[in-house]
Amino acid sequence: MAERFDLVIIGGGILGISTAYHAMRMGSVSVLVLERNQIASQATPRAAALLTQIRYKPSQLHMAQRTFTAIEELRAELKDDFGLRRTGSLHIASTPATETPLRLHAEEARQAGVEIDWIDANEAKRHTPWLDASGAMAIALTPSDMIADPHLFTHAYAAAARARGAVVRTNTAVTGLVREGSAVLGVKTGAGEIHAGAVIDAAGAWAGLIAREAGVNLPMAPVWSHYWVTAPDAGFPPNMTYVILPDARAYVRPEVGGAIIGLRERKSLSLDPRALPDDVDGLVRNSDEEAHAMLLEGAGPLRTYFPSLDALHFVRFMAGLSAYTPDGEFVLGPVPGAARFFAAAGCCGSGIACSGGIGLGVAEAALGCIPSFDLAPFRPDRFGAIDPFTLAFRERCAASRSGKLSG
Ligand SMILES: Cc1cc2nc3c(=O)[nH]c(=O)nc-3n(C[C@H](O)[C@H](O)[C@H](O)COP(=O)(O)OP(=O)(O)OC[C@H]3O[C@@H](n4cnc5c(N)ncnc54)[C@H](O)[C@@H]3O)c2cc1C
Repeated sequence: MAERFDLVIIGGGILGISTAYHAMRMGSVSVLVLERNQIASQATPRAAALLTQIRYKPSQLHMAQRTFTAIEELRAELKDDFGLRRTGSLHIASTPATETPLRLHAEEARQAGVEIDWIDANEAKRHTPWLDASGAMAIALTPSDMIADPHLFTHAYAAAARARGAVVRTNTAVTGLVREGSAVLGVKTGAGEIHAGAVIDAAGAWAGLIAREAGVNLPMAPVWSHYWVTAPDAGFPPNMTYVILPDARAYVRPEVGGAIIGLRERKSLSLDPRALPDDVDGLVRNSDEEAHAMLLEGAGPLRTYFPSLDALHFVRFMAGLSAYTPDGEFVLGPVPGAARFFAAAGCCGSGIACSGGIGLGVAEAALGCIPSFDLAPFRPDRFGAIDPFTLAFRERCAASRSGKLSG
């Protein structure tokens, strides 16, 4: 007899594990997570993990707020802070093109109960000693914003899910789906078939490959994302407020005595999921020299805010894959064309910040519960018939990363 679970979740990144946690909170339900590597080993541990509540996509605001609520639940339950730091954030706009959306989305967050303070450049400098924001038109301080340790955060979700009875199997690849007509009845692994009431595809950059097994396409592509890490530097206090600079396409956050500097390239690069190895550790993005050249090339506008940028010593370049969609919205919920098959994918570089809402929304959809969120903006079929593996479609996904205003 094949094993059977109410939910089988493919992928033990933060989205799969958060979905398991939220499903287990709903009561008597059996949940299995299958992860072919280790928990939080692919996109998740590479994230800068900025937990920002000013969301440039209104559909994400309540999802990000759910993450903050989940954090409070996990803290209370596990009696642990799992590496969270409440540093607050600054969003800085210096042109009309960025000031208008900042004021709009900050107001949406304020109306949803988030404290937002408008401050001047002198006060901003008290929060972040390296910063020169004298040219800013608007500076929004969100005191409750946080930075997560994405590895520990995922393990916190996993500990709470396991405590409620979820089963998490690592080193176990899903090799295919069990199908009957267009319905997905379970998964295939090296140890045999496992049957499920619903199968959730939370396979990150590889989610489109799983979906193809179900005979459907997901509108997303893996896109390179990266940042640089400086050597320890007294100019970056550990709890310094992190800064998002849409006009410089950059963010700066504290990191083990130094800082992380994220700088978005003008043209982001996608990958064909069919060419991905099973583990992103096997992928090489750039040599140190190329990465440094890329930093210098894109750093012009950042220097305006960060006059001492060129004196910094960089010790590490971190690159990973995030799955982007052409409109920057996630890919969530039931996948039309494949009954009993659900997506928790297309994170658009916001999967840590919105992990709570994504996990709750997808768990509710898969278990047939009353939804806490409107998943309509995230419908997997919203682009109609597509082939997401073509270069043309992947470039649309990459363009949504390069055009992003948030962190
Ligand atoms: C440089 C960088 C910076 C980022 N900064 C931020 C940030 O500041 N804030 C933020 O919110 N987000 C950020 N992100 C995005 C964030 O990392 C992702 O949104 C999030 O980690 C996505 O989680 P996931 O579970 O979808 O993917 P993953 O963590 O990749 O998990 C998917 C899992 O599925 C498994 N899998 C795949 N195929 C199979 C199979 N056949 N069988 C079994 N298992 C399988 C994989 O092994 C993997 O572990 C950043 C990402 C990068 C790369």
